[in-house]
Amino acid sequence: MADVTEPGVAAGHQIPVAEGLFEITDDGQVALVGSRCAACDAHYFPQALGCRNPACDATTVERVLLGRRGRLHSFTVQHYQPPALFRMSPWQPYAIGLVEIEEGLKVMAMLSDVDLESLEIDTPLRLATERLYEDEAGHDVLTYAYAPYEEGTSQ
Ligand SMILES: [Zn+2]
Repeated sequence: MADVTEPGVAAGHQIPVAEGLFEITDDGQVALVGSRCAACDAHYFPQALGCRNPACDATTVERVLLGRRGRLHSFTVQHYQPPALFRMSPWQPYAIGLVEIEEGLKVMAMLSDVDLESLEIDTPLRLATERLYEDEAGHDVLTYAYAPYEEGTSQ
């Protein structure tokens, strides 16, 4: 686990809320860090230690980036403030989605840049980041989140 007060990271920089969940690739895109079984092509997020497919006897999985695009499968809107472990500041009601990503699995994530009153199942989503809070060292602490996008655009 990263030390968020690490002196090498200047105030104002963006840091992930946890290591190994997502990364920003060289082309500026956000991707989830997951696992893939080379034998049966099962994908996992968060990363798995081994393949959990009962019909597969592979013992190792490889690290893959996934989840750049998906569709909204289900969602709920949270109107209560989450416990302290899950910090958001400033806090406001937000949506949590179950997103079916293009690799075929479903991932729970915050929804970003959405109108809570007009969310629709099957909305095309792209992976983005959402600022949760500013830590004691002045870093913007980010998590991954899915935001709607117009299909056919590169955004
Ligand atoms: Zn497998």
